[in-house]
Amino acid sequence: MQTIRGFRDILPEHISLWQRVEQEAFSLFESFGFKEIRIPVLEKTDLFARSIGETTDIVEKEMYTFSDRKGDLVTLRPEATASICRSYIQHKMYATDPVRKFYMTGPMFRRERPQKGRYRQFYQIDAEVFGIESAYIDSELIFLLNELFKRLGLTGLTAHINSLGCPECRPAFQRALLDFLGKRKQVLCENCTRRIQKNPLRILDCKVDSCQKALEGAPATIDHLCQACDDHFTIVRTTLERQGVAFMVDKSLVRGLDYYTRTAWEIKTTTLGAQGAVAGGGRYDGLVEELGGPATPAIGFAIGFDRLVEVMEQLKKNGQDPPLDLFIVALGNAAMAKAYHWSCDLNLAGFRTGMDSRGKSMKSLMKRADKLNASHVLIAGENELKENQLILRNMDTKDQTMIAIDNLVPTLMTLLTK
Ligand code: AMP
Repeated sequence: MQTIRGFRDILPEHISLWQRVEQEAFSLFESFGFKEIRIPVLEKTDLFARSIGETTDIVEKEMYTFSDRKGDLVTLRPEATASICRSYIQHKMYATDPVRKFYMTGPMFRRERPQKGRYRQFYQIDAEVFGIESAYIDSELIFLLNELFKRLGLTGLTAHINSLGCPECRPAFQRALLDFLGKRKQVLCENCTRRIQKNPLRILDCKVDSCQKALEGAPATIDHLCQACDDHFTIVRTTLERQGVAFMVDKSLVRGLDYYTRTAWEIKTTTLGAQGAVAGGGRYDGLVEELGGPATPAIGFAIGFDRLVEVMEQLKKNGQDPPLDLFIVALGNAAMAKAYHWSCDLNLAGFRTGMDSRGKSMKSLMKRADKLNASHVLIAGENELKENQLILRNMDTKDQTMIAIDNLVPTLMTLLTK
């Protein structure tokens, strides 16, 4: 039996990076006042069709949609924002406090053509903020991403930012775009020819070569912003500059979902080839109301977890499994019986401890300690046991000290956690 195409196992030898990212991300988010939310994997299809947009690639061709046994149309979530909005509205969170900050992680499902960095089940880390229109929150989210990537040791990433405007400035932009496309209609792909009537903005996001060519020199949203959007975007940029976050304004950046307004961004890397976007986000001030809630400004981002881990692996930063703190080399049955209990006690005291109870020789046990990347080894042979002592060997410096078996855990606490 094999996994379905585009679906994959993430094996134990790769999981330490995933856990490290989660720990860094969640503790950073918590310190900025975000709270974890958990949402279902399956939702009514209508939720995604209405929020992401009927004419987007995701809704038109990528969703895993099926009718359940009663005939209701349901969809495996392709992203988290729509569900989090649904939850915000369903539980009337706006009534007690409209300002909410959420984060979550979990699998998303899109039936795209699989390739390196693109899967049909992939993972995202999401952060969303409701109830704040101020541009400072846009800067805060981009700053947070930048800080997280810095803490994870990632280099070579660039933030591309743009403003997509609001319902106020969009009609003028749409007219300028239609004017421009009017002369190029015949070279557009089949999808875009259809979209020109229904949703011309989506054409800006089309990946087909002929459409990309036709769009050279196309009008940009940023040149058609109303005063309020222009002021908003100015604050985002100047705040990021003041905070020392490197970014570039990318006029051609539009995101593949309909709900975005004003600030939109992507964090890109050059290390992953075609699948260069590691994270993307944007404001969606109209979505909560569109889905039946009160008018509520909102903004969020999603990190492509799989891609982030791939970049980290490529940079060979922290790619190793975390080393063992201690490996116990126990020689003979008597030592082994004792070592088992020491190992449990040490694990409970917070030391990552390993041993090998297969009765191997000293030489092969030391090799094993090396392979497991242990920083220290505790050696218990017959002589040591007689003297109620153990040898503690530092695997880096090769220094050895004798330590008493009584009070083993407190002694090691003092020696190893300086
Ligand atoms: P989006 O929800 O499309 O804005 O995507 C946000 C991030 O999720 C992207 O920047 C990617 O890093 C990641 N992502 C999107 N689709 C996939 C996919 N099919 N496989 C892996 N990662 C993905």
